[in-house]
Amino acid sequence: MLNSFILTLNAGSSSLKTAFYDTATGGASLMTGQVDRIGSAPHLKATWADGTRVERDLDNPQAGHAGAMKAVLRLVEEGAPEARIEAVCHRIVHGGPDRTDSVVLTEAIIKELSALAPYAPLHQPHNLSGVRGAMEAFPDALQVACFDTAFHRGHPWVNDTFALPREYYDKGVRRYGFHGLSYDYIASRLAADYPTLYAGRVVVAHLGNGASMCGLHGGRSIASTMGFSAVDGLPMGTRTGQLDPGVLLYLMTEEGMDAAAITDLIYRRSGLLGLSGLSNDMRTLEASDDPAARQAIEYFTFRIRRELGGLAAALGGIDGLVFTGGIGEHSAHVRAAVCEGMGWIGIDLDRQANRTHGPDLTAPGGRVKVLTLATDEEGVLAREGRRHLAA
Ligand code: ADP
Repeated sequence: MLNSFILTLNAGSSSLKTAFYDTATGGASLMTGQVDRIGSAPHLKATWADGTRVERDLDNPQAGHAGAMKAVLRLVEEGAPEARIEAVCHRIVHGGPDRTDSVVLTEAIIKELSALAPYAPLHQPHNLSGVRGAMEAFPDALQVACFDTAFHRGHPWVNDTFALPREYYDKGVRRYGFHGLSYDYIASRLAADYPTLYAGRVVVAHLGNGASMCGLHGGRSIASTMGFSAVDGLPMGTRTGQLDPGVLLYLMTEEGMDAAAITDLIYRRSGLLGLSGLSNDMRTLEASDDPAARQAIEYFTFRIRRELGGLAAALGGIDGLVFTGGIGEHSAHVRAAVCEGMGWIGIDLDRQANRTHGPDLTAPGGRVKVLTLATDEEGVLAREGRRHLAA
């Protein structure tokens, strides 16, 4: 007889991660899996607790996130047909202005979240189709939504608004911020392992294929580099990051580009890929001696340094800097480049600790604690699932 489980579904820009958690203990259990390269060459990898590995290309590369979700659900059916799934926890990109917490999904809430699709057209519909798929596959399970925006909803007004006429703020045009599950996890790690730092002012850099930074004070988000959409702030694998809106007007009036063409340009063809002309993948860029690849990394790290200064100002100082996400956790080169010349703000990196990935990268005598911590968005999804099951 198998125990009962919480299933987590974490849809990123080009990946879908899934994991089982034991409902009773909260521990990761049974299987972890991931579909990568959604949209280009989707590939599924999973490992079951008995060591069995599953690896396959998905039949239909065009099937996008919906295809990835189907593949994950099929994997669960094949590998654990008798597992009792008590809750399915979904990472949902947008909770709108009022959702400050995770929630058990009902038809009314799904309708409310569907109405937010214009805020996140590239992600919200995929997320909700994932919810529908999971409801069909596990009709008796609690479906829990955890929002990327919720962690940031306590931003002070100056970090929540744009300088547009007020009616737009009231209509929901705000600086939402994203990657909230990752920041929530890092805040909980700081609370557990670095309580003094947790109480202070910390900048967290979530550097993955999608990238953003967040200023935490006392574990609460004060400001984020991402704004209304997940294209703002830092340059990313294929996204521009901050872009003068005048550029968009120019593209529309002079190059005749419409919304779809601009979306494709700023979300899929820009960032590290656009600048390097080579790849969106940091490993590929670091391995290349092409000057354009070096420049792409230079632009990436320079923008991180600018935002670091801005977030430190928003926090009124800085006590800690935490690197996380695929690049933040693994790229000693990027971390060193970000911290280079940051002594004026109190950041001094221990080069040897950086090479061996810390987790404490602070040079002796460094005033600002520099850490690299692995994020765990699935762990936050499972935590929320247990909380709702216990309620
Ligand atoms: P996502 O936003 O899709 O979840 P990840 O957090 O997995 O992305 O981060 C993916 C990025 O991390 C890629 O650019 C990848 O090249 C980079 N990365 C992973 N491992 C390393 C490494 N050892 N050195 C440099 N970059 C790395």
